[in-house]
Amino acid sequence: MDPQFSRTLNPAPATKAQRDAIFADPGFGRYFSDHMVTVKWSAGAGWHDPAVVPFAPLQLSPAAMALHYGQTIFEGLKAYRQPDGSIATFRPDANAARFRGSAARMAMPELPDELFLTSLSELLAVDHEWVPAAGGDHSFYLRPFMLATEPGLGVRPAAEYLYILIGGPAGAYFPGGSIVPVDVWLTTDYTRAALGGTGTAKCGGNYAASLLPQAQAAAHGCAQVAYLDAVERTWIEEMGSNNMFFVFGSGEQAEVVTPSLTGTILSGIIRDSVLVLAKELGCQVTERRVSGQEVLEGVADGRITEIFGSGTAAVVAPIGGVKHAGGEVRVAGDEPGEVTMKLRGMLTSIQCGTAPDTHSWMRTLVPA
Ligand SMILES: *Cc1c(COP(=O)(O)O)cnc(C)c1O
Repeated sequence: MDPQFSRTLNPAPATKAQRDAIFADPGFGRYFSDHMVTVKWSAGAGWHDPAVVPFAPLQLSPAAMALHYGQTIFEGLKAYRQPDGSIATFRPDANAARFRGSAARMAMPELPDELFLTSLSELLAVDHEWVPAAGGDHSFYLRPFMLATEPGLGVRPAAEYLYILIGGPAGAYFPGGSIVPVDVWLTTDYTRAALGGTGTAKCGGNYAASLLPQAQAAAHGCAQVAYLDAVERTWIEEMGSNNMFFVFGSGEQAEVVTPSLTGTILSGIIRDSVLVLAKELGCQVTERRVSGQEVLEGVADGRITEIFGSGTAAVVAPIGGVKHAGGEVRVAGDEPGEVTMKLRGMLTSIQCGTAPDTHSWMRTLVPA
């Protein structure tokens, strides 16, 4: 494949005034920059036609296989304006690798890492003005995804796919900057993933399946769903789009515990980074099975002092309570815990370029 991306500029890009109005309150996933990247794949030609084009609706056959049998996968990562004006992103090589893993599980072609990474810098080369200023807690959310475009209703892997990268400004996950713990609903009605299923892939169907339990959680005043394993209905796995951490004890004795990756849990990049940073913080770090029972009892008797979720969107988000069909437990007096906030601070300062990147996690997409 010719690795050179063609470039067709948007004839009517947003004005600075329009962008500034969006920057005032970007929210999440509501506004998109002027361009997108597309790369085609076909069984005959492999990956071809990498292009930067104006952000625009797709033309798709109503028989496109993605619309019927759900061959769609995605990734999510953020680009941050650095203090020197450059634009960098956090561990995108891990997103590229996970995207290949998701593709493999869904019988889709694997996008080479180099193409994935180049697509990020190609988009921001033309849309760098869409990346919010340094110093705030705004970022630019990048959404790479792939879908089966071949028309046909036979149930088999499609022979044509489209990789697309879109992106847009993202506001602070916690509006107003104050980190407010959220409640989670420990569901016993639904499960997220079974061994041999698609739990470790970021495929669209997993999120469609999460919407009903999510609505049930919302009806109980919870922002997130915590899932138990599908076989024993005993072991905590994760939340709908965040991995889960439990802090036992406090201070020098703090132990940071997260469920081990047993083949049903999405391998979060923030999860992996938290495990590294918690060790640096001096915490004991343990990956093991954690039962719902242990969590409810541990919070009630004070052994578990903090619970938090990890994921690209929220980075690290404290959990204030765990609710379930039989009642609820409150965590850490509904205040963000000390270890939670330290880990959050360590991660966000690496991402924003205000702390040294000792792990070489940051990758520059657009130089200063
Ligand atoms: C994306 C996702 C996460 C978080 O992954 P990060 O790489 O840390 O953003 C966790 N759980 C599920 C189910 C996810 O889809």
